[in-house]
Amino acid sequence: MSVETAKIRVQELHEQLNRYNYEYYVLDNPSIPDAEYDQLLKELIDLETQFPELRKPDSPSQRVGGQALEGFQKVEHKTAMLSLGNAFNEQDLRDFDRRVRQAVGEGIAYVCELKIDGLAVSLRYENGYFVQGATRGDGQIGEDITENLKTIRSIPLRLAEPLSIEVRGEAYMPKKSFEKLNEIKAEQGEVPFANPRNAAAGSLRQLDPKIAASRNLDLFLYAIADAGNTGIQSHSEGLDFLDKLGFKTNANRQKCATIDEVLQYVESWGEKRLDLPYEIDGIVIKVDMFDQQEALGTTAKSPRWAIAYKFPAEEVITRLLGIELNVGRTGVVTPTALLEPVQVAGTTVKRASLHNEDLIREKDIHIGDYVVIKKAGDIIPEVVNVIVDRRNGEEEEFHMPTHCPECESELVRLEEEVALRCINPSCPAQIREGLIHFVSRNAMNIDGLGEKVITQLFRENLVHDVADLYRLTKEQVVQLERMGEKSADNLIQAIEASKGNSLEKLLFGLGIRHVGAKAAKTLAQYFGTMSELKEATYDELVAINEIGDKMADAVVTYFDQPEVLKLLEELASFSVNMTYKGPKQVKVEDIDSYFAGKTIVLTGKLEQLSRNEAKAQIEQLGGKVTGSVSKKTDLVIAGEEAGSKLTKAQELGIEVWDENRMLQELNK
Ligand code: NAD
Repeated sequence: MSVETAKIRVQELHEQLNRYNYEYYVLDNPSIPDAEYDQLLKELIDLETQFPELRKPDSPSQRVGGQALEGFQKVEHKTAMLSLGNAFNEQDLRDFDRRVRQAVGEGIAYVCELKIDGLAVSLRYENGYFVQGATRGDGQIGEDITENLKTIRSIPLRLAEPLSIEVRGEAYMPKKSFEKLNEIKAEQGEVPFANPRNAAAGSLRQLDPKIAASRNLDLFLYAIADAGNTGIQSHSEGLDFLDKLGFKTNANRQKCATIDEVLQYVESWGEKRLDLPYEIDGIVIKVDMFDQQEALGTTAKSPRWAIAYKFPAEEVITRLLGIELNVGRTGVVTPTALLEPVQVAGTTVKRASLHNEDLIREKDIHIGDYVVIKKAGDIIPEVVNVIVDRRNGEEEEFHMPTHCPECESELVRLEEEVALRCINPSCPAQIREGLIHFVSRNAMNIDGLGEKVITQLFRENLVHDVADLYRLTKEQVVQLERMGEKSADNLIQAIEASKGNSLEKLLFGLGIRHVGAKAAKTLAQYFGTMSELKEATYDELVAINEIGDKMADAVVTYFDQPEVLKLLEELASFSVNMTYKGPKQVKVEDIDSYFAGKTIVLTGKLEQLSRNEAKAQIEQLGGKVTGSVSKKTDLVIAGEEAGSKLTKAQELGIEVWDENRMLQELNK
């Protein structure tokens, strides 16, 4: 690259990075993922290394983060609050180790710590009393946030010793508080925070300390600003000293004698971090001895004696090439984003569900957009947001079709649903998905019959419904792609074996609306056989504890269909088992208790039993305990200070008992 071209690119990078810094540090609202920012910064540093004449003192590579917000008192840091250099892989860490050893010789020990994803704060104590707390700001001048910091309970207002000392640490928002905060924000129609770091920063940089107090922040201390006065010789001693003074430090630190030990530490936290109650974005590695730190010194932006290893990105940018539509087993049409393949958290991501049209509108997603993709841990990838800045005008708006992409029948939006559905019962996509569901693990669990084989069987016209699976012969199966003699034998055997499954597996596999695996088991336990269940009335069904009205309705409707009855006959003719094989549940009508089959509401304070105990005992006697009084309620049990439920029961003329009357009946 010529110096002229480099100059133009450096200028572009300055502008972009300054803008992103402003969004991140001042607005607490970044528009691009950190990894993307880190990559741009790395590009700038590489160009400045190659062309040192292009490195300006005001370059983003030479300056620490943000700037103090107006409205706060400014605090000048006596010791600068610096940033950290970054490492992204093993080689970067080995290079760091080599630089350190070249500068100060062998005999190095490192301290590895978790890199808490929050914001740096400085706390000043005089004679043991907390007098001032500040943000990092631009490293020299920060914001006075003393009152906000006082709301963090783990910050001692008075130390164990009457010391005058300045200490530093990371204020952060625990994952749980973050989720709760964003839930509340969503309920109030406000824009959620992008991540716990920005949420913590946004909470501490509020003029009203009540807001910070409500946000459940916490803090880990990781350094003494000027340990020179304390007689302490090393970073690890310093951390132990902070513990003694009553500060909270992070216990997961480890001293390492070699870079290989450091690498092991880094690797072990790569996975364990998902189980932590707070977010970390990397590992900080520090030279332990202060004299060696001093010999290494600092650059304008960061110390040479420490480095931050950053975990592989969980958020990346890629392009949304198109939107595919999939018809599910229940007819719901789901849009899926087709992405330019991209590496996220160790796997290649090509698709991400967009759920429904409302979500596409809400996020303003267009085909051709650059989008941020997130995949945290094992979680399914999702489109976080669109990078509107990168649009070139050729992006296309997306509209859901009016007709099913598989069978072309008109799509409908059922009441109170955001999803569009194909309601044609012979829609091939639904049938195929239904078959995939029927053979899945929680249903008939037929080994060797995955999505691919089912799709082939369907395409070859060998199966049209689940009964056809039991008609398959080895000769038919062996003709399928990549199917050998042995696999065909195994498959036929697995299909044969599934005939012996207990009733709940078949029930779940049939895919009755609203009937999940758990409800299928309840129904099977309760009715024992398919023929009993077939005859069950709505009232009998809702009388069962876990069965609500929607499910009861769905079950009755399902068994009312002549096609269903025909299918069940066919399955029976293949000797598919239709009885429950586990321990049986007693039927309501066989229970000799007043409560059996009744819908009961508990209200007010009970003296002798807790609500839960009363509920459990009533349920054991075949009663169904619900939360609200309606015409369907048979009995209300009112304890002390019963309120509106009792009034409503009286208005509706429902029988009301007191606690003693209930106990008499329970103890019978
Ligand atoms: P940094 O986060 O990479 O490292 C320095 C900071 O690490 C310290 O100031 C301290 O707050 C923190 N830290 C956490 N645990 C620590 C520990 N145990 N010991 C020492 N320090 C610890 O650097 P930075 O300058 O604060 O910020 C850069 C970060 O912000 C990068 O991750 C960058 O991607 C991100 N950023 C993102 C955008 C964006 O637009 N997405 C913009 C600007 C910055």
